Amino acid sequence: MPKPVRFSLAVFLLMLGSAHAFAQMTTVEAPAGAAKPVTTTESAVFKKAEAEIDSDTSRLTEMYKDIHQNPELGFMETRTAGIVANELKALGFEVQTGIGKTGVVGILRNGPGPTVMYRADMDANAVEEITGLPYASKVRVKREDGTEAPVGHMCGHDAHVTWMLGMAKAMAATKQDWSGTLVLVGQPAEEPILGAKAMVSDGLYTKYRVPVPDYFVGIHAAPGPTGVIANVGGVRMAGTDQVDILFHGVGGHGSMPQLAKDPVIMAALAVVEYQMIVSRVVDPLETAVLTVGSIQAGSDNNVIPSEALVKANLRWFTPTVREQMIGGIKNISNSIATAFGMPADQMPSFTMKGGSTPLVNDAALVARLNVPFKQLLGDKNVVSEFPPATGSEDVHLLMGDHKVPFDFILVGIADPSVFAEARKQGKLLPYSAHNGDFRVDLKAIPIGTKVATVAMLDLLAKDAAK
Ligand SMILES: [Zn+2]
Ligand SMILES: [Zn+2]
Repeated sequence: MPKPVRFSLAVFLLMLGSAHAFAQMTTVEAPAGAAKPVTTTESAVFKKAEAEIDSDTSRLTEMYKDIHQNPELGFMETRTAGIVANELKALGFEVQTGIGKTGVVGILRNGPGPTVMYRADMDANAVEEITGLPYASKVRVKREDGTEAPVGHMCGHDAHVTWMLGMAKAMAATKQDWSGTLVLVGQPAEEPILGAKAMVSDGLYTKYRVPVPDYFVGIHAAPGPTGVIANVGGVRMAGTDQVDILFHGVGGHGSMPQLAKDPVIMAALAVVEYQMIVSRVVDPLETAVLTVGSIQAGSDNNVIPSEALVKANLRWFTPTVREQMIGGIKNISNSIATAFGMPADQMPSFTMKGGSTPLVNDAALVARLNVPFKQLLGDKNVVSEFPPATGSEDVHLLMGDHKVPFDFILVGIADPSVFAEARKQGKLLPYSAHNGDFRVDLKAIPIGTKVATVAMLDLLAKDAAK
């Protein structure tokens, strides 16, 4: 496994920035060092699909704005799943809904040939949108625990759904030009890293009889310039775990701490000491990230609560580092509780809420797809080399135990002039995902749709000489 580089997302974005961000996507250059040249037939089919998408762009843009204005958190994506199901049904796909709670699968069987699976995640973030766009989200929801949260598509999953539905229409329109089975997946709850596993354990390949694919492709928006994509082989993203640590204490009056056992102090110590796992336990040449994203305890100034909850997130590339972080969290938490005199039966509780393994792109599939991508976007707008990032995904868990060549592609969604201006100001990026100012350049709507479509057309092309 290649050594992952810390902060490598930054490196990627630097490369994106230097990758002729402003070239028009209509630039067609001869593929260099191509694994398989694009044939004249394929090229004609691509052009036909592109024209189909161009004429569909205003509808897709409205669809995008509608999904953007109506964001839904993980496992609550009933409206979005409804849009996916209705669109796919209307295009002639066999549609099954309610897989892994809110997941949707559409299958288009179109003669002999490979089965290709494509996934779009549907969930939004509990983040307040601050873009000020006319179609900005104003949505707030009540979560299962009773708390209210703002909801916004701050990771671009609204674009992912739109791209998939635009591609579905283009594939249905070019049905006579390809052969095989196309499986489209609207996946719930990517953000909590639970949705892909939920679909598989609900019986995606058994109860719902979805065919195991020969190829599997996913696409994610990234705040690089519109018109530029990154498609790279090998280890691309980190493994991750969401861990909750609940400290039990003894509540009491804030004026008499000697009569209580303060879980707020326990949690505060834990947050600081956990960082020593990364700095003192893990091999300095390995990558490890341990972030505490939430601490919840008490409500009043003068009351010592009886519990404190710490929510941690881990990133890793090897099972050893993962075990070191999980073991370290347990050791440190238990030792803090012990130091405060908590009895053995009231040690902290640990809840592993969800996780994913590192994401690995199939090098041969990447090389194959970069040929049509370069034809579509121009050689310089297809970034094919950069180090792995500490971001994570659960897309590949949709394959369950099946070994399937897989490719996950990043598609630039930042207006190139906004991107260039940010660079001029010395910023790496104009904005980042999961922040309230994240936005998708509307010009990226047809581009992402085309990227998805040429990938599917290449993998399902009629000429069998693959
Ligand atoms: Zn996200
Ligand atoms: Zn995302």
